[in-house]
Amino acid sequence: MSLRELLRVPAGGPVDLAAIDPAGMPGVPDAARRHPRRWAQEQLVEVGAELAGYQERLYAGARAGGDRRRVLLVLQAMDCGGKDGATKRVAGMMNPQGMHIVSFGRPTEEERAHDFLWRIRRALPEPGYLGVFNRSHYEDVLVVRVHELVPPEVWRARYDQISAFEHELAQDEVTMLKVMLHISYDEQRERLLARLEDPTKHWKYNPGDVDERELWPAYQSAYADALARCSTDEAPWYVVPANRKWYRDWAVATLLRDTLADLGLRYPPGDFDPQAEKRRLIEADRLAKLSVAAG
Ligand code: AMP
Ligand code: MG
Repeated sequence: MSLRELLRVPAGGPVDLAAIDPAGMPGVPDAARRHPRRWAQEQLVEVGAELAGYQERLYAGARAGGDRRRVLLVLQAMDCGGKDGATKRVAGMMNPQGMHIVSFGRPTEEERAHDFLWRIRRALPEPGYLGVFNRSHYEDVLVVRVHELVPPEVWRARYDQISAFEHELAQDEVTMLKVMLHISYDEQRERLLARLEDPTKHWKYNPGDVDERELWPAYQSAYADALARCSTDEAPWYVVPANRKWYRDWAVATLLRDTLADLGLRYPPGDFDPQAEKRRLIEADRLAKLSVAAG
């Protein structure tokens, strides 16, 4: 079974997050189980090279071939779930010039004056770009639902609005893959403690994180509903066990590689004859030399 098949949320659900082990390592072959971390780190080097190759073709296709395709990786997770780490590790293996990375925090006043998808539309990758969303429109059925920032009938309507939006994106040649980094309650505590113990991590800590943590069960339910209701063939959700950072990075990179591989990306052919251009170049040089010598 491919990693995508192993981690994919079936269209329409169901999703039982409690049944998915956050420390699991689906897709790591039995033969690698003795040293899974070393195996995954070695694999990641290869996967990274493939990612970089596909991304360059995607970019080249738009720049020189008029190809309108783009790819969007959406990362969602609880606090300390590894969104920043996965972005750094996976996006860091590709050419920054072709990446479009956007984090979504609490909406600004301007953003709040618009529909919840307004800021998302503005942040979409242009043709040829590989976009990464660190948080996304899903916050509007996660934190917004858990904190009742809008009335229930408003957030309830959003699942269908999101699916309609993502269908529109698919029609517009946006290939999406949506990944929930799944950590355990205990792992979150360890990571929060580690942040508190390290002054270089204090900028990432927010006292509100402790209050959010108390709402863990409400968040897990909100995640389960979002994943079940918005996993489609066009824009599937994947749940990546994320307690182990090396597994998380390997899995996200591999899901992205497999998604890119399906696109059949090719370097666009030039609209010139390379042999004729070579002759022109040599001839032009020869004439330039003659005139230099004569001058
Ligand atoms: P961080 O990712 O640690 O920078 O935190 C970003 C914060 O913004 C998190 O607490 C999110 O819950 C919050 N956030 C993101 N999107 C929304 C939204 N649409 N409505 C309210 N809060 C949001
Ligand atoms: Mg935070």
